[in-house]
Order: sequence, then structure tokens, then C-alpha cells
Amino acid sequence: MRPEALNSLFVETDALDGVGPKLMRPLEKLGLTRIRDLAYHLPDRFVERRAIANLDEAAVGENVIIALTPREHRSPSGRGPFRVMAEDAVGNICTITYFGRASYTAKKQLPVGELRWVAGRIDQYGQMLQIVHPEHISEDASAPIGKLCEPIYPLSEGMTQGRIGALVAQALKGLPELPEWIEHGLIAQKDWPAWREALGEAHRGVNAAARDRLAYDELFANALALMLVRESNRSQRGTPLVGDGALRAKLRLPFALTGAQTRSIAEIEGDLAQPSPMLRLLQGDVGSGKTVVALSSLLIAVEAGAQGALLAPTEILARQHYETLSRMLQGTGVEIALLTGRDKGKAREAILMGLLDGSIQIVVGTHAIFQDSVAYRNLALVVIDEQHRFGVGQRLMLARKGRRAPHTLAMTATPIPRTLTLAQYGEMEVSKLDELPPGRQAIDTRVISVERMDDVIGGIARHIETGQQAYWVCPMVNENENEDLAAAEARYAALKERFGDTVALVHGQLRPEAKDAAMERFARGEASLLVATTVIEVGVDVPNSTLMVIEQAERFGLAQLHQLRGRVGRGSEKSTCLLLRGTQMSETARQRLALMRETQDGFRLAEEDLQLRGGGELLGTRQSGDTPFRIASLEQIQKLLPIAHDDARLLIERDGGLAGPRGEAARLLLYLFERDWGVQLLRSG
Ligand code: ADP
Ligand code: MG
Repeated sequence: MRPEALNSLFVETDALDGVGPKLMRPLEKLGLTRIRDLAYHLPDRFVERRAIANLDEAAVGENVIIALTPREHRSPSGRGPFRVMAEDAVGNICTITYFGRASYTAKKQLPVGELRWVAGRIDQYGQMLQIVHPEHISEDASAPIGKLCEPIYPLSEGMTQGRIGALVAQALKGLPELPEWIEHGLIAQKDWPAWREALGEAHRGVNAAARDRLAYDELFANALALMLVRESNRSQRGTPLVGDGALRAKLRLPFALTGAQTRSIAEIEGDLAQPSPMLRLLQGDVGSGKTVVALSSLLIAVEAGAQGALLAPTEILARQHYETLSRMLQGTGVEIALLTGRDKGKAREAILMGLLDGSIQIVVGTHAIFQDSVAYRNLALVVIDEQHRFGVGQRLMLARKGRRAPHTLAMTATPIPRTLTLAQYGEMEVSKLDELPPGRQAIDTRVISVERMDDVIGGIARHIETGQQAYWVCPMVNENENEDLAAAEARYAALKERFGDTVALVHGQLRPEAKDAAMERFARGEASLLVATTVIEVGVDVPNSTLMVIEQAERFGLAQLHQLRGRVGRGSEKSTCLLLRGTQMSETARQRLALMRETQDGFRLAEEDLQLRGGGELLGTRQSGDTPFRIASLEQIQKLLPIAHDDARLLIERDGGLAGPRGEAARLLLYLFERDWGVQLLRSG
């Protein structure tokens, strides 16, 4: 049960003033369903403005607030923008410019002859200064003056800065006072504010101490929960599994295992023989051969007279695994079954029976294999594919299935750097498949200036003529998703003009049916060129697609580029990846692209990515899904995670865990960050 002190934080956002059905969707899209989420929805950055008395004080490129009096409205001749000529206090004239259909609002907000306070960025336009689409316009001075430092929040469609700001303010107003969970010495040494103050300050302006404190809270909660898992695991008894190798010897593999596979299997074998349950992570890039390692592990369990399960995140992946494993198991006499949510009636009954009486030795499936109605005779090993899609909570649910805790092998294809491994899988041992099976062709990766677009298009034409297919990836990087979509649509239109109906488009805002249809068309080879935003589905596997163009490649992180590039190089033909770069690039961006050209080693890229990204961030820019953290940036993780880890250990090993007075506060923290499975474990264990 969640402690009462936190109840107000977990109230749903629709209880706030001004949240109707219309705002619910954008809020949900941002993951802001409870007051707590809003309070932790930290600004990406702040716009700092200077209040100036007249335009002579203004510098080009500066954000200002200035009093201006509109003198004339100039409607566009033809397709030009709508302009308002406005005068400052000393008679200088500047232009306020509106593109598109904004002129109606402009006329209303900037009536001729009436003084207005205008907040926006000063640009040069010919001989004149101009402000394009001012961010605020107001009749009285007080409102804009209050915007000298304005938080800029991550948005979703249908949400505005004004609305989200107001909701955050409401959320912050009701924050409870919570006891301190950070060790006193540490908080004094770092000079960090208390929790409630830290939240308030993090929304008000750039404040490293406040941001660090909040990040530390998150890291500490995670470290503590993982430590509790580890402790509880140590105290549990599992079943030692020792196989005689008989079944593994019967496998007729069409290839020799790589050194990395052999090593990983040996590590797993060693763990399985222990009385305490295995908690091991198998890390290996796409194509590194995790499946055969999983199968060998499952066979050890079967040899030892027990059952094994393979859990996949989706039905499609479960089916694929089942087919692959069944093929490999031919001639071994091992019984394997597939169980998904789709199975009903007699077929399902038969499988349940087989699992109960032990005649089925290996089961592959989605989380349906762990429903209450499914009972096992002797489940001793659980292999989880694509670990990162499952929460730790689910992982633990599995552990409760057997009479004794089963061994767990988690597998992930996302190469993450060592520090993040600690953060995400702190309680696990790690095996790495850091060697690809022989015979893979390297992907020819090139960096090309966008100025050579014509050559690139020509290359695509030649490529398609040979009957092969290609991806064209457009970035989703702007704060405003719509701008990116517009760019992707424009690219699609241009390519379509050149190549005709053989071009297909997918992006996140298409209806699911439209998206599926486009994907299908490409998968079946009816379309040769797929224009896509970064949402190319995880399952996309079109071996005939051997060319990838990535636009504005300098704006992607290395990890992301690596994931994208992994979509080609899947067939027998040689593959190419063209990284289109803009004409201006930062030094970091240049290094990133050079690295992409140099290596295809996911682990190396992950490490270097962390190094490169570590430095250049002003605020803790949220990372896209590659860490389990929402608050802590990569830099903060590197800086603070080791401290959080040590402190969590101290709290458990020296300070009485969650029982002591600081433990009470730490328990709140676990609930606050929804790491409460840690608490529950401790109670049951
Ligand atoms: P992962 O699940 O790690 O992405 P898979 O297990 O699906 O990779 O293996 C990718 C491909 O490589 C499969 O076709 C598999 O049969 C093959 N493979 C696996 N191990 C080896 C090996 N040692 N030598 C050659 N091919 C291998
Ligand atoms: Mg796989």
C-alpha cells in the first residue's frame, strides 16, 4: 500500500482546473496522468529575455521584451508574409512578421495606434529589425515582464506552453512536505535543496543543484530497489541445474558457435549449477546469435529434468522464436509448445495439461505463459527476450511462479554502456556477445553533404533499377513534431515526383491501418523506397532493402543511428548507408558521424555515444528510451549513480534498510518513483 503522505501526488491530472477531455490525450501522450508526473515534467530549457526601452538597445538574435506601437498593417501582395510596422518609444520602426494564416490574430492583437508589450526574438530583415511570430503580446506590462525567464516544456500535439505551464504551476502548489531520504552528510556537502524546494526551483530557472538533487532521487530510488532485489534473490533458494550434455549433443547446428557464444553458455551453465537463482543478462547486437544461447540454456534445464520457458514481448516474436526453436530441436525428442493469449479452447487445455504434467519441456510465449491459470510441474529457467520491454516488476512476478525461484536469463539487443548497464540491470551478472558470426558483410557507411542531394537521388535511381529496395529516414528532432512531419511529407512528395508510385510513406501520425498497409507494400516488394520517420517498427525485416539514406544524420544520437542502420545488411547483398549531413556541423556531430563510418560495433558506439553526449548538455535533456530514467541525464547518471549505488548499499547493510528512520523516508521515495516492488520484496522475503 502506498503511504498516505503521497496520495495527493498520485491524484489523476483530470482533477486539476482546466483539464477537460480535450487535454487528456495530449497529457497522456506526454505520460502526464498524475499530479506527480506534472511536477516532474521538467523544462527542456528556459528562454531568457531582456527588457529593453527601445530598439537601439537590441542585439540581433536576442530575446527581448519591448513596448511597441503598431503603425500600419501591411497585407501581403501574393504569397508574402503579413507585416505590422511598429514604432518604439523613440521613434524607431521595426517589423512584426507573420507567415501563413496568422494575420487574423495579428490584426486583433496588434491594433494600429495602441501600445503593446511584445516578447520575441530580434532578427535582421534587410535594413530593418524584425520580430517573427512574437511569443507573447500583451496590453499591460506586468504579464510579459513576468516572462523574463520562461520555461520551455516538452509538448505534444494539442498542448501549448501556456497550458502546460499553468498545469505544472497547479501541481507544484499542492506538493506535500516529505521527510529527507538523502543522507545528511551528502546533502550538506552538495548544498542541495530539500525535495519540495528542488522541484519548485527546477521549474523556475536554470538551477544545477535542484536538477541534480532530483536526478539523484531517481537514481537512488532505482539503486535501492535493485539492491533490494539482489538481497532478496540471495536469500532465496533455487534449484541447481546440472545437465549431462546429452540433448545439447543432439543439436544439429549448421554452424560452429562463436567464441562469444561458447563463453556465454559456459557462464550460464556455471550459474545454473548454483543453489541461488541465476540473474543474468545476455547482451548482444541484433544478429549476434542470442537464440542458440537461449536454446542451449533451456536444454540444460531439460537435461536436468526440469522445464524452461522463453518469454517474448510480442505475439509475432513469440511465434518466430517457436518456429526457430522447433526447427533446431528436430531429432532431440524435446517437447516444445507455443502459448499466447490467442490460444483458446481445447488446444490451450492440452498445452496447460502438458505443462502441468511435465510432458511439455519448453514453452515459448507472451506473458500469457505466466497467467494464474498456467501451472508448471517444474519450471526452473525463464529466458526473457528483449528484456528492456519488460519492467522489473514483471520480472519478479515470473520469479514467484515456481515453488522455488526459477533461474532468469534476460536478453537484450540494445547495446548500452557499462554505467547504464549498472543502472538498468544493477542486480544482474552480464554476458556479452561481442562477436558477430562469421561471414557478415560490413555495411558500407558514407557521410555525404546534403548539397550533393542530386547525386544521392541518382544513386537511389540506380539502386532501385537493380530490383533492390531502400529506406529514406527523416528525422524527428524538433520540439514541434508537426514541423518534422511536414518535412517528411515534403520529402515524400519530392521523391514521389521523381520515382512515382513505388515510394511509400510511414510516420507516427498515420492511422494504424494506413501504416500497416504501407509497411506491407514495402515488405512485399511492391514499393521500392520507404520514406519513414524514426518510427520504423522494431520488427521491420526486409532483407532486400540494402540501402539506407538518413537525412540530417548529424542530429541523431549514435545509438539511434546504429539501431537504424541495423535495418540494412540483413541479406546476402552488400548494403550501404548514406548519412546526409547539413552544411554546418558541430565538432561533436562530426565525430559521431566519423565513428559511424569507422565501426559497426554496437558496444563501442554505445560507450562513445555516452562520452560524446556527456559534455554538451546544458540542462538534463531527456534521453529517448535508452535509460530507465526520466529525470536524470546521462551526465548526471555518470556523475551521481556511483554515489547513489554506494549510499543504497550503506542504507541496507549498515543503517537497517527500510526499518530505520531514514528507511521510512526511503520507502516513500521508492513509492514516489514507483520502485515499490523493492518494498514488497523485502516484506515477502
Ligand atoms: P539475435 O537474436 O541475437 O539477433 P539470432 O539468434 O537470430 O540473433 O541469429 C542471427 C542469425 O545468425 C541466425 O540466422 C542464426 O542462425 C545465425 N547464427 C547464429 N549463430 C551463428 C554462428 N555461430 N555462426 C553462423 N551463424 C550463426
Ligand atoms: Mg533475437
